Amino acid sequence: MTQLYKDPLDNKPPRHNKPRVLIDLDGVTRDFIGSLVEAYKKEFPRHQVKQVNSRHLENFFPIKEEIYKFMGAGYIEEIMENAAPFSGAIEALNRWASEFEIVIVTAQPEASRSSTFTWIGKHKIPTNEVHISYYKSEIDGIALLDDFVDNLEDFAATGRLAVCLDQPWNQRWKGPRVHSIEEFFEYVQDVLYQQQTEQPKQESKT
Ligand SMILES: [Mg+2]
Repeated sequence: MTQLYKDPLDNKPPRHNKPRVLIDLDGVTRDFIGSLVEAYKKEFPRHQVKQVNSRHLENFFPIKEEIYKFMGAGYIEEIMENAAPFSGAIEALNRWASEFEIVIVTAQPEASRSSTFTWIGKHKIPTNEVHISYYKSEIDGIALLDDFVDNLEDFAATGRLAVCLDQPWNQRWKGPRVHSIEEFFEYVQDVLYQQQTEQPKQESKT
């Protein structure tokens, strides 16, 4: 009898043991603020938006607290879906996906959840795992790249490597800081290399 159906599991790739790294979306991979400002300017072309340097968005948009309504259901989907990736971000993820298991971790309110999944698909983010969670430090991974200081502090408190993607709103973070996703992977690779070379020395002392 001819075999009509080939089990896809026959072709499964070999098991890998790549280090897991957690990558944030907004402020790291996706330029959410840029997209918000663009959408705002379409609605209010004469308004001047100040440079956003904290999470208190009401301080930068002339409509003040109303900005949060503007970010609600009905508006937010388009803002999220149309947001551009930061320059070089997707390229860097693709370049390093063979060395690291890329795990996307992003805190999203319900209104922006499906548009976030759409965005991940639209840009073909090389990931097998997406977590939508406000509790990033509960997720397994050797390092986190994030732009929000509270997330970095929580993650660092678990004894793991928390790396900040430099943004105007996270200048109070005193730990490791990078300016691109590419730089993050280079940094993590250096740390892993140092750990590997330090270990035999420690063993020889005992
Ligand atoms: Mg973020």
